[in-house]
Amino acid sequence: MTTPGDPARSIGWCAWHRGLASDPILIQVVEQASGSGAGGHLYACPRCRESYQLTPYAEKAR
Ligand SMILES: [Zn+2]
Repeated sequence: MTTPGDPARSIGWCAWHRGLASDPILIQVVEQASGSGAGGHLYACPRCRESYQLTPYAEKAR
């Protein structure tokens, strides 16, 4: 069910509970580790952000 005019909900991968989540927030930017390809952007869903007391990346980077 989609409502026209409804802003698109962003779905992303929550790195904390390792699952898909709606409205993920960027928490951490990991520099690409050599060879492993583990670098990237770590997102957390609002629920994990609360339970782990994560600080959004946008608030950390001044
Ligand atoms: Zn989560």
